[in-house]
Amino acid sequence: MLKRLDNLERRALEALHKVSDESGLQSWKVAYLGRVAELGQILDSLRDLAKEERPAVGRRANEVKSALEREFESRRTAMGKDELDRSLRHDRLDVTLPGRTWTRGRLHPSTQTLRQLVRIWAEMGFQVYRSREVETDEYNFGLLNMPPHHPARDQWDTFYTTTPDVLLRTHTSPGQIHVMRQMAPEPIRVVLPGMCYRYEQVSARSEIQFNQMEGLAVGRRITFGDLKGTLSAFARRLFGARVATRFRAAYFPFTEPSAEMDVECFVCGGRGCPVCKGTGWLEILGCGMVHPTVLANGGYDPAAFTGYAFGMGPERICMLQRRIEDIRYFFANDLRFLEQF
Ligand SMILES: [Zn+2]
Repeated sequence: MLKRLDNLERRALEALHKVSDESGLQSWKVAYLGRVAELGQILDSLRDLAKEERPAVGRRANEVKSALEREFESRRTAMGKDELDRSLRHDRLDVTLPGRTWTRGRLHPSTQTLRQLVRIWAEMGFQVYRSREVETDEYNFGLLNMPPHHPARDQWDTFYTTTPDVLLRTHTSPGQIHVMRQMAPEPIRVVLPGMCYRYEQVSARSEIQFNQMEGLAVGRRITFGDLKGTLSAFARRLFGARVATRFRAAYFPFTEPSAEMDVECFVCGGRGCPVCKGTGWLEILGCGMVHPTVLANGGYDPAAFTGYAFGMGPERICMLQRRIEDIRYFFANDLRFLEQF
């Protein structure tokens, strides 16, 4: 019986080394390790052997079984590796094929302009202050020197919510009150960017939602000269070192005196063209000295503190810079427009 096992082991290993593919490997497994294979029969017949013969034959049979299983595994691993080598040799990778391009996202033109503006103001020492888009009537109007029934409220067509006195902000100016009440009596230099909402007839020039960028400086001995100097410096950083600016008197309830700043038309260089409607100037922003009532509402003593404020429309600036004719493109979500930036 022991001889028979030695013989079986030798034959099985010889057969295994001749196997050359996966199906041959599987048939070998059935033939030598399966339930009906010779080895299985020997193990099954152990109980028929004489008592003194049984332990030695049993031990040897199990040795043969584990030896065959070990060889089977190592043969299978080796064949897998051969297979991989062969496929690498034959199915060679062509690294000269053009790659698949990855479609990258991009920033919305409004965001690009906002970031450009924020970068300029940051270089000039202004911090970004974020303020809420849902406001109370008091912050949006009352504390900005527009008590109920003030006629200036007519300038802002407002989205009111179903909650009394809660509305979508019509401008970023309520942020002035928030930042003043948080910082008083420390000096302030901030810009307040963000979305504003107006209940307006949508046209090529006006949308119901748009970005604004407000600016506020509060401190001691701040003058109108500081306002003009700072805003002119901003215009030169945005539109080029030689751009001319001019200030025209204007009216806002929360500043006194108030002005609008124009820059020389950078399309025609001031000679007059359709973009500037023949005037040679482009209106860029509104500004003024913070009204004493607004300073007091923010927690500053108007006898000791002064300040200036300004507000501009990033979409309008973007339209001028990129010659975009219609503000409705910004939020129409048309990829043909958005992919140009
Ligand atoms: Zn022009």
